[in-house]
Amino acid sequence: MKKHPVRVIAAVVVAVTLIVIYGLVNPESRFFPKCMFLVVTGWKCPGCGSQRAIHALLNGDVGAAWGYNALLVSFIPLVAVMVIASLVRLRRPGFYNFVNSRWIIWSVFVVVVGWGIVRNVYGL
Ligand SMILES: [Zn+2]
Repeated sequence: MKKHPVRVIAAVVVAVTLIVIYGLVNPESRFFPKCMFLVVTGWKCPGCGSQRAIHALLNGDVGAAWGYNALLVSFIPLVAVMVIASLVRLRRPGFYNFVNSRWIIWSVFVVVVGWGIVRNVYGL
């Protein structure tokens, strides 16, 4: 399975553009979309604060990022492992299959839903 170079280049351009935007512009400005779940329900979804957390991380403030969305900061190592697993998929299919196993995916799902509940119950 060979990746089309235009798609790879487009993905890199989009990723770099988002990194630059989130690094330079504070998501609390009016240019960023608000969470519709929060607007409609008044409850934080598991992803609330992620834009602000990414902005804080890109500006080197891990503590602020943790305060905005601890789950996002906690999942950075997992995302790194998933990216690595994808990159070495052909050479290490067992590693890729383990990282993308049902057990891992369901565990992540339970943690995300649990975080969504806990942060609303305890005001995190
Ligand atoms: Zn939200």
